Amino acid sequence: MAHFHDSMISLVGNTPLVRLNNVTAGIRATVLAKVEYFNPGGSVKDRIAVRMIEAAEASGELMPGGTIVEPTSGNTGVGLAIVAQQKGYKCIFVCPDKVSTDKINVLRAYGAEVVVCPTAVDPDHPDSYYNVSDRLVRETPGAWKPDQYSNPNNPRSHYETTGPELWEQTEGEITHFVAGVGTGGTITGTGRYLKEVSGGKVRVVGADPEGSVYSGGSGRPYLVEGVGEDFWPTAYDRTVTDEIVAVSDKDSFQMTRRLAKEEGLLVGGSCGMAVVAALRVAEGLGPDDIVVVLLPDSGRGYLSKIFNDDWMNDYGFLDHTGDQPSVLDVL
Ligand code: PMP
Repeated sequence: MAHFHDSMISLVGNTPLVRLNNVTAGIRATVLAKVEYFNPGGSVKDRIAVRMIEAAEASGELMPGGTIVEPTSGNTGVGLAIVAQQKGYKCIFVCPDKVSTDKINVLRAYGAEVVVCPTAVDPDHPDSYYNVSDRLVRETPGAWKPDQYSNPNNPRSHYETTGPELWEQTEGEITHFVAGVGTGGTITGTGRYLKEVSGGKVRVVGADPEGSVYSGGSGRPYLVEGVGEDFWPTAYDRTVTDEIVAVSDKDSFQMTRRLAKEEGLLVGGSCGMAVVAALRVAEGLGPDDIVVVLLPDSGRGYLSKIFNDDWMNDYGFLDHTGDQPSVLDVL
């Protein structure tokens, strides 16, 4: 019998856990990374795409030949685009202009239409990416907006997949779960499951860019993509989170580069942010503690930013201590 998957959809989830061995120097606890770029669309968001689309089909909100319209920073779009094309739906995505061209080109490659909106306007401005997507929903026949910010199937997908996977993979020994907060779906669903199954023993820690509302800011612009907000989405249940750790762009991006160089993990900026938070948590822990940090996506979408020395230097993110310019740059 030939072994194969019916389509890319059945490859979503069941991502590996990998120990961090080098950035953890001096830390006694075990720190494990849940590496979500192993999903077929390259990010954690494939999980919510499958769950949200299947629920909308079941409820009749998404009908054959329908169009999915969503404001997304890229990763949710990729997940939705893959599931949609396999099931015969069209996609229109609305992105803020801080999202890298690489990410936008990926969405277009999967056959989606992409509309780019300015980042520097209020959420209630007519050109904000939230409002543009609402207008597209009104004007497109057969349109359905998953709205990952309020869709209960976003956290539910993590309650049903990410949480149980982590509990099984650690054989119930996980003591801390750390994840970045964007829509809040990952931390809410995974955290809720882990708390329930462990009888409240697992501590749930959110990582947030400095300036975002989750760590007490106003939503001041920061450069890490996919995390932090300027409003409180209903997908996020703040009672699940025990603690929020705020991390600067500089710390996030420097750690992102170290993960590639020292752990073989080419991951995105929100992964570096989450690892900084995880290490701050792990510093005070002992050898029996197991900290799991979720790494949402791959670094491929950020090669011209975080992994580009000129871009990092323009923002003052390189110290020239650990990250020396090469000899050729100096000559
Ligand atoms: N990192 C990246 C790169 C993301 O795209 C997202 C999703 N917005 C997150 C982290 C945060 O995940 P969540 O929306 O589940 O809070």
